[in-house]
Amino acid sequence: MRAAVELIMDTGRRPEEIADLAFDCLTHDGDGLPVLLYDNHKANRLARRLPVSSTTADLIIAQQAWVQGRFPDTPVCDLKLLPTDRRNPDGHKSLTAFSVAFHHRSWMSAMPVLHTNDGFELDKSRAVLYAYRHAYAQRHADAGVGIDVLRELMDHRKLDTTSGYYQVGQQRRRDAVEKIAAMQFDRHGDRFWHQAEELLDSEQARRAIGEVVVPFGVCTEPSNVQADGHACPYRFRCVGCDHFRTDVSYLPDLNAHLADLLRNREKLLATQDLDDWARDEALPSQTEITRIRRLISKVEACLDLFTPTQRTEVEQAVTLLRRHRTVSLGMPQIRQPQPDIRLERP
Ligand code: SF4
Repeated sequence: MRAAVELIMDTGRRPEEIADLAFDCLTHDGDGLPVLLYDNHKANRLARRLPVSSTTADLIIAQQAWVQGRFPDTPVCDLKLLPTDRRNPDGHKSLTAFSVAFHHRSWMSAMPVLHTNDGFELDKSRAVLYAYRHAYAQRHADAGVGIDVLRELMDHRKLDTTSGYYQVGQQRRRDAVEKIAAMQFDRHGDRFWHQAEELLDSEQARRAIGEVVVPFGVCTEPSNVQADGHACPYRFRCVGCDHFRTDVSYLPDLNAHLADLLRNREKLLATQDLDDWARDEALPSQTEITRIRRLISKVEACLDLFTPTQRTEVEQAVTLLRRHRTVSLGMPQIRQPQPDIRLERP
């Protein structure tokens, strides 16, 4: 029962999917990392693969050893990972989701009063097995896993279904926008001062429709905004353009762009395949590199002024905003680092 509940917590699968796991439900992907094989009975999709953490893999391996010890004469292909102890002499029959739910409820009821991190008393009646599926989605969303990846992890067909499993919370997103809006910079690295804490709804909406995301900031050039970022009149020379703004949430992108420029520059200088004029045109300009370096150092200098608590708040706001950001442009994109999708259970 304990293994069943832990697996439901770790993997976010439906209780019936975990209860029915086959004995050999653990395999590995091409990189040797653990993967859980399970059947999504609700959508009638069998042999689904879910990346799991090494902690979860260890849990399954320990459970397999226990089951083999309990039913030593049954071939493993006939065993269940979570066999019931009722009328099951050879380990063919698995637990039912109902019995796991029953024991989980008894366990919860026997616990003393529990409190959330905010100090509120936890309503134990809400701690049902299915809530762990929501917790799984929320945990991954909070860690910055994009909704398209999360949809795969939840094995949903529609993004709308996945988005119903976690709360971004309009208020949380608004708080994050307000925090970051107070730290906007123009292309020179000079700070824009907003009355951030008093951004009105109308201002939030205006911001959302009056700008379009470019790889390391936002663009307010009207024709480009109207074309959803596909019609820059200046060939995306953003750090030299008055319509460009950036903020601390773009710091990783700025650093990635600077690294790209330096790498390209080295490569072009070393190549023998280009005429001089072509190399000169393709070479990232020293001015652009200097401008980006200056912008990065000004944004970082702003972060250095914060106390550790303020820094943590800003980092959380940045994670939230980056998760919901998509950049669509007719120019090379900066790859956002993939968050870890094999989260350990806290
Ligand atoms: S250069 Fe950048 S900021 Fe300026 S109009 Fe083009 S996309 Fe917008």
